[in-house]
Amino acid sequence: MKKKPELKEPEVKICSYCGIEVIGSYQYIKTKRGSELYICSKCVNEVMKTAKR
Ligand SMILES: [Zn+2]
Repeated sequence: MKKKPELKEPEVKICSYCGIEVIGSYQYIKTKRGSELYICSKCVNEVMKTAKR
């Protein structure tokens, strides 16, 4: 039996803030609960504002 070659697709990150696919730079955040968030560079400022309060 032949194994299928594993195709490595480029990982697609979805911005947890705006829900749009992240293209380019992003901020990776791991919460205390263990969930992983990806925030696109456009939303980082907004998220940081919210997180400070
Ligand atoms: Zn975003």
